[in-house]
Amino acid sequence: MKFHVVTLFPESFDSYLSESIIGRAQKENRILVRFYDPRKYAPKDLKKKWPDGNVTVYADGKPYGGGPGMVLRAEPYIKAIEKALAVIAKKIPSLSLPKGKGKTPKIKIIFFSPGGKMFDTEYAKTTVKKYTDIIFVCGRYEGIDARIKKVFKMEDISIGNYVLTGGELPAMVCIDCMSRQIQGVLGNFDSREEERVSSHDVYTRPEIIVHKDVKGKEKKYAVPAVLLSGDPKLIDAWKKLYN
Ligand code: SAH
Repeated sequence: MKFHVVTLFPESFDSYLSESIIGRAQKENRILVRFYDPRKYAPKDLKKKWPDGNVTVYADGKPYGGGPGMVLRAEPYIKAIEKALAVIAKKIPSLSLPKGKGKTPKIKIIFFSPGGKMFDTEYAKTTVKKYTDIIFVCGRYEGIDARIKKVFKMEDISIGNYVLTGGELPAMVCIDCMSRQIQGVLGNFDSREEERVSSHDVYTRPEIIVHKDVKGKEKKYAVPAVLLSGDPKLIDAWKKLYN
């Protein structure tokens, strides 16, 4: 599965995506994440080069009709999405991606918006089955000029009923959740949820934890005895009860 992220802040992904299960999935080429910074693809008239060599990109503008906040300009985003599409179509050999078992690419473009369709595990599951390449478009500030949705067919997705400052966390949430639906990403594929959303309570060593509260009073916390019973039927019944 190849994830293409259109974002003004590609570095904000580094630490999370390089750690643990998602980091390993990339090293093993089970998933690939590539970034496209709209600033890089902004037309010349939106760029200003200063005498010291620094370049400012005017990627946003005031909203037509008034209102708070700045709106991201459509052109740099359109160009960045076109770049991702060209990479997927292998039109740019220097950026060519590992072969996806000779599959013809099936592409979906997701646009993050707090008012979009709610993301969930089911959505992640069906999306990874259906597509080879997903382009995530991350907004910031007041959002992106709505005309980009006229140029490309894309689905508005929300990760929850709250408003964040940008689409970067939603992109990380989707990459994380979708990746664990791909065979080989989790050490044990059965760790995925099937019908359930979350696990029953889980415990590991030691069998008893001793904790002293602020008053110095000790209390012991034991693992439920049934989990130590070695009786699979009893354990299964307990798990169902707490599911
Ligand atoms: N007033 C704007 C808020 C923009 S928040 C609006 O109602 O759309 C800035 C950006 O963060 C959005 O463009 C979107 O890409 C992202 N974002 C914020 N909250 C989000 C959420 N719950 N789910 C998905 N994306 C979100």
